[in-house]
Amino acid sequence: MSSDSTTGRRPERLFTVAAGPLRGAVLLALVRALLAAGAALAVGALVDGVADGGAVTGALVVLGVLVAARALLAMAGPLLATTIATRVERRLRRRVLDAVLDVGPWTGRRTGEVVGRATEGIDAVGALAGTFLPQLVGGMVVPLGLIAVVAVVDWPTALVLAVLLPLVPLLLRLLERRFASVSARYRATADELAARFLDGIQGLRTLKSLDRSEAYGDELARASDRLRSETMALLRVNQLALLAVDSLFTLGTVVAAAVMAGWRLSSGAITVGEAVALVILGVLLIEPLTGIGRFFYVGAIGRAAAAQVRELLALESSDPGADDPSLPPGAVRVRSVGYAYDDGTEALSDVSFEVAPGERVALVGPSGAGKTTLAHLLLGLLEPARGSVGVGGRSVLVSQRPFLFHGTVAENLRLADPDASDDDLWAVLRAADLAAVVEARAGGLDGQIGERGLQLSGGEAQRLAIARALLADADVVVLDEPTSNVDLETEARIRQALDRLMEGRTVVVIAHRRSTIAGMDRVVALEGGRMTAGGPT
Ligand code: ADP
Repeated sequence: MSSDSTTGRRPERLFTVAAGPLRGAVLLALVRALLAAGAALAVGALVDGVADGGAVTGALVVLGVLVAARALLAMAGPLLATTIATRVERRLRRRVLDAVLDVGPWTGRRTGEVVGRATEGIDAVGALAGTFLPQLVGGMVVPLGLIAVVAVVDWPTALVLAVLLPLVPLLLRLLERRFASVSARYRATADELAARFLDGIQGLRTLKSLDRSEAYGDELARASDRLRSETMALLRVNQLALLAVDSLFTLGTVVAAAVMAGWRLSSGAITVGEAVALVILGVLLIEPLTGIGRFFYVGAIGRAAAAQVRELLALESSDPGADDPSLPPGAVRVRSVGYAYDDGTEALSDVSFEVAPGERVALVGPSGAGKTTLAHLLLGLLEPARGSVGVGGRSVLVSQRPFLFHGTVAENLRLADPDASDDDLWAVLRAADLAAVVEARAGGLDGQIGERGLQLSGGEAQRLAIARALLADADVVVLDEPTSNVDLETEARIRQALDRLMEGRTVVVIAHRRSTIAGMDRVVALEGGRMTAGGPT
């Protein structure tokens, strides 16, 4: 995906659906920390009470209540994390599905790659939202609350700790630079593996027939080995983050708290109990920050995945569509069009022609000339890189290999027009000479198509696709003429159904045979992406 197609759009907000529970999780962390701080103060009071030989029951009761409350609240943490992750994942799955369905199969990405992003990638974003994000925000908010408690006991100690604390995020940012490239590499390797795996399954028959399945298996093994080493690299950096935060910081904070407490105690500013409380508070301060370190890899992987998911969602806005309201229905205008695929292949350059409503045009040329690319531009499935493509009204594709979904006859037809009545369906089935077949072999419109249901021959599937196109009632029909050899009777029936479809409509057909060209009003000839005949005179 080129970056220019996404400029001007705000990046997708991925976490707003879980804003409530996210706030809850941070609040929970803060409340638990304050309960612990209260417990630290209670311990201090207890120590002082013992030292003075006074009553300690009150302090003990308070301590017990605080510790119990904190333990009870601990149970809410995982619950909130799951809620956040589930909400974010559910929403993202929907959005990704919508985006992918909207763009169609021309996302310019391999199916496996898209599947990888939509499954594992979204899981990673969910973990980021549920596990890491509350840690991160909590790691910033909770220490502030704790330092406030320290300040109540002894403000100079609070001051020293407040200066020490911001060092941790700084350290982590430094590490993150290094991490960013490692985790992006990890995601890319994981996607590659998913893509290969899916390709392998989809192409299993081809691989088997070519006797290549074993070699492909080896390739998959190599891809998963690469993933393993990337995972190790990721964990190594994570260990480094842990080590840095843990050792350096833990030690620094506890030592600072202890030294301050000792100094203030000896100068008589605080009691023994308060000194003890200060040291405990110092230890508490570290907890939220080591939490960030512990889940650092979740954050890093999640962020790389989030970037990829955002990229998928951004595809939605680039939905081209060639519909041009300024043109009369059925008119087609192609002006100086150029198109290059992502890999740099120049499929079309400087192609111009016009088609009047009701005209029939044959696209001809050798394989690779750019006929399919031009057809996809007319259908609005691709967007021209240069020039413009305009179509008046709706266009519909009838391809060589029509896609029929598992489902009923009616469902397959209503894809073209969800509001069509049963009568409408029967009308187009009759026009495609399929009504008798559907009645006799499927038992009606609700008969299933596919493995367990109505088995359609190639010619019948083709005619069902034509019936569907008829139902779409488009102004422009783009037709990829079947190349496979069908018997004469089948061909005659397809021909007849097509004639009904083409009647009164503009037709652009990718023609493979001379006989087809004969029936056309005009021929647009392509070679190497350029027009050799049929342009404006
Ligand atoms: P035709 O339909 O006339 O056989 P195409 O429009 O399919 O020609 O292809 C035109 C050129 O674009 C060819 O060089 C082909 O290899 C290339 N091409 C087609 N589809 C893709 C794609 N998805 N990615 C990269 N190159 C492509």
